[in-house]
Amino acid sequence: MNIGFIGLGNMGLPMAKNLAAAGHQVSGYDPAGTTAEGVAVAASAQAAATGADVVITMLPNGKIAQSVADQALPVMEKGTVLLDCSTIDVAAARSIARRAEDRGISFLDAPVSGGVGGAEAGTLTFMVGGAAESFAALSPLFDIMGRTAVHCGGAGNGQAAKICNNMILGITMIGTCEAFALADKLGLDRQAMFDVVSTSSGYSWTMNAYCPAPGIGPQSPADNGYAPGFAADLMLKDLRLSQQAAQDVDADTPMGAAATELYKIFVEQEDGSGRDFSAMLPRFEGRSRS
Ligand code: NAD
Repeated sequence: MNIGFIGLGNMGLPMAKNLAAAGHQVSGYDPAGTTAEGVAVAASAQAAATGADVVITMLPNGKIAQSVADQALPVMEKGTVLLDCSTIDVAAARSIARRAEDRGISFLDAPVSGGVGGAEAGTLTFMVGGAAESFAALSPLFDIMGRTAVHCGGAGNGQAAKICNNMILGITMIGTCEAFALADKLGLDRQAMFDVVSTSSGYSWTMNAYCPAPGIGPQSPADNGYAPGFAADLMLKDLRLSQQAAQDVDADTPMGAAATELYKIFVEQEDGSGRDFSAMLPRFEGRSRS
């Protein structure tokens, strides 16, 4: 396929590289001038999108994704697909879908889970909203960039799945970290805490696979001085998207709201920015109840 790839950052660059390595013609654009082996450099977003069967975008937020879509859609041909893998708000995704549909272009919102490691290894999980036929047509590309792709329904549902997943993740990480900090103060050995919880009803991905306590459980960012991994800043971004969506549809998400507030304080007023989101554990350790 001829693929236009717009947004060659930490995630987009390795994804584009994997598509090129699998034999696709990839033309990439990023204003920062990043480029990768096998990826032809396009001079603009329009240049990358011109003549493409599929245009993939991997961008920081909904505002930028909408503006890039407005540049790409006019030069894309009818029957082609715009695949946005960025994490953006549901409303922005649905708005791009409507504009694409008006031009006879199919839009899929396909945010990912798995981080930079998953992008490099080609093991991402895609959660995809949009037409089932387009989802099926692009499955060879999902297979190259990822290990799992789930069709979640109509436009915006991929983003809905992503923010619900990450709201659970943020809430669970905070719960795991505050429980470790409490266990410390109660004199419970961390290894014993892990051995019990990871095999009891408190188990979770944040405890079992991404333990925030250094030296406990499988290797995680805690074992690397809390270098991300998944930065607290990105967790805050996703939690904010969850709260924006909750407001839009009048959903009651008190735990999501509390997690958003805690990550906001951590990132904006404390030392959380640039650290992994599991660095909530040293944060709680350094605090007392009052
Ligand atoms: P990044 O900041 O490294 O990359 C974004 C790229 O977009 C940058 O290279 C930037 O130059 C480019 N860009 C900005 N404005 C542009 C424009 N107008 N036209 C073209 N390109 C433009 O971010 P990232 O870590 O690659 O994340 C990309 C998306 O993936 C985000 O939505 C993020 O939330 C999501 N995501 C990231 C991770 C992760 O672990 N990094 C995991 C899952 C999802």
